[in-house]
Amino acid sequence: MRNSNQRTLILEYLHRVKTHPTAADVYEEVQQLLPDISFGTVYRNLNRLNDEGLIQAFKVGRAKHFDGNADNHYHFLCRQCGKVEDIEMALVEDIIARAEDATDHEIDGYELFFTGVCQDCSQTDKGEEDGNK
Ligand SMILES: [Zn+2]
Ligand SMILES: [Zn+2]
Repeated sequence: MRNSNQRTLILEYLHRVKTHPTAADVYEEVQQLLPDISFGTVYRNLNRLNDEGLIQAFKVGRAKHFDGNADNHYHFLCRQCGKVEDIEMALVEDIIARAEDATDHEIDGYELFFTGVCQDCSQTDKGEEDGNK
């Protein structure tokens, strides 16, 4: 029962947030509810949930991020602060079929990140330029 409790808490946390946390972020959160849990347990649970397709994981630089939304969706990555946000837009239709047409490889998925500078970061920049931060 203990193990399923850990798993459920991790999954619930990922469903609750849209911040695409790292394993360390998840550990920090879950530890408040289950003080005895180890980082290794959190990490194993995250990878298992990902293998089972209940969540998704992706790498940004060297950090692995986890997403409670396992459905294909687009992400925005801020080049300055590294935050990852969902972009709520319709998926490009047939994108996998189109990629398969263009190659002989077997394609089973894709990762698509839009990159740029987030609103928070661009506002900070402006504030500094104007000297009125
Ligand atoms: Zn940013
Ligand atoms: Zn996402």
